Amino acid sequence: MKKLLAGWMIACCISFLLSGWAFAEEEGKVISLQQEAEQQLQKELGAFEITANQRELAKTNEAGYSVLDAGRGNPNWINTQARYAFTRFSDFATRECELDMSQGSMAGHARREGIGERFDAAMDPENATDAFLIAGVDYCVNALGLDKDTLLKELADAVIGDYYPSPSRCLPCTEIILNDYLQSTLYRGADLAGETMVFPTEGGSAAMVYIFEALSHNRLLNPGDQIAIATPIFTPYMQIPSVKNYGLVSVDVSSSQEENWDIAEAELVKLEDPAVKAFFLVNPSNPASHALSEKTLERLKRVVEKNPDLIILTDDVYGTFSEDFCSVYSVLPYNTILVYSFSKLYGVTGWRVGLIAMNESNVCDRLLSELPPEDQAFLRDEYSIVTAEPENMLFLDRVVADSRSIGLYHTSGLSTPSQVFMALMSLTHLVNAEDDPYIRLANETVRARYTALMNALELPADDSAQNAQYYTLVDVLTIAGNRYGADYAGWLRTSRTEIDFLNDLAAKKGVVLMYGPGFSAPEGTVRISLANLYAEDYTEIARRLFELLDDYYAEYEAETGLDEAA
Ligand SMILES: *Cc1c(COP(=O)(O)O)cnc(C)c1O
Repeated sequence: MKKLLAGWMIACCISFLLSGWAFAEEEGKVISLQQEAEQQLQKELGAFEITANQRELAKTNEAGYSVLDAGRGNPNWINTQARYAFTRFSDFATRECELDMSQGSMAGHARREGIGERFDAAMDPENATDAFLIAGVDYCVNALGLDKDTLLKELADAVIGDYYPSPSRCLPCTEIILNDYLQSTLYRGADLAGETMVFPTEGGSAAMVYIFEALSHNRLLNPGDQIAIATPIFTPYMQIPSVKNYGLVSVDVSSSQEENWDIAEAELVKLEDPAVKAFFLVNPSNPASHALSEKTLERLKRVVEKNPDLIILTDDVYGTFSEDFCSVYSVLPYNTILVYSFSKLYGVTGWRVGLIAMNESNVCDRLLSELPPEDQAFLRDEYSIVTAEPENMLFLDRVVADSRSIGLYHTSGLSTPSQVFMALMSLTHLVNAEDDPYIRLANETVRARYTALMNALELPADDSAQNAQYYTLVDVLTIAGNRYGADYAGWLRTSRTEIDFLNDLAAKKGVVLMYGPGFSAPEGTVRISLANLYAEDYTEIARRLFELLDDYYAEYEAETGLDEAA
């Protein structure tokens, strides 16, 4: 809201100035400056607010078309297996509680003794959901070495939700399952599950907020420190108060279409400067939807040799959509904090389930031990209310404590049923790790949509392994140029801003796309989500986009025709 208000105030000031000028300057000029001011305001507003406006325009579009909204990243699929398993297991656990005590609607707690045998007796191998639960438990026992009764007691208590999360950070068996999932999907062979700590959070969003707040609070990031950001990037992250208001100075480490959205060496070397304290990236990226190449990961390793205190924060929510994905965490486990979210792959944005993963041996704990004595004294005092040995409290445990303002550390942690749901989603993958049909289907789904869109737009498709194809950035001026030539594209550039174009596309044709520069993507680009419409809708989006370009072309012809006549 503050930002919105500030934006409006800037716009009001500018329009006031412009209205003054209107007496002196010729009208056309004023209008174009006003447009610039408006565009500036809308840039301030951010891509998401701009889209909200277009969504309204699209509802009453001139053509009377059905609305096609490819703005949001929320997928239009869900995973059914984990959901069926969750209700089935919850049912089993509730009956376990009734064995302890049962009066009317009141029951006791699940008991550990014999729970494995009762589970085997209750599950029907002929039923698909039961068969998955059996396979999941077998996997935990045989592949992960978990004790069956301990596992089932943990999951039963957790799904019932009759105890506070304990330990606060993560339930023990659940942590082992989550670690195995992360290793299987994101680490490409690096064996790190046994040395990684996991903190489940209310989605990737909460994970990011918690990390930045704890880095600031623990004085690992201080006002004036430089933090490097891989751009273009998911803009709401830039709005986190500790990034925006704590005086951190951001350095762009940019990628471009010419580099296939990979980070060029010249950009990466910015990270060698020890003044750069942290590097923040989304990988595969949003909006460009590309994973870093192997070459870039190797270069990043060399950069960190020169700046060994660098804290890397990677958001790998789209990792499973990129073939042969390799997380920065798996090549630089000491320096990297990993954020993952189940939101997109499993269609669980409303559940709010994500996590933070960090190596047992990590740069943050070393930096804490190297803080100046006055900072150490301050932090000892801060954390002494929840631990007898505050100086030995790990950074990740401080993240957990800070997530509840330290004082409420003992009731912190993600809700336990949510932790069970995360374990079940992980197990749908792990029982099929060699070739997970669900992940394959999710990838094929976005790929088919991407192909339909690029074919219809007559643009070359990028089928490289790095392209996660969850979103795509397309350059409207390139499309315009391909259709009617460079002169027309040049005319379009000066006569319409991207916002005009997106507003027209919504108001006239009922199509909602997102504003690229709102993600600091290049001018002229729009982001199209491939997650939330069906393949044929993307063909239709392309058709309507051409229809708008044709409308503009008629205008262009009329104007240039007049020029010739004059
Ligand atoms: C969608 C998305 C997420 C998921 O966030 P949740 O809070 O888990 O829903 C995380 N990071 C990026 C870059 C995203 O686009």
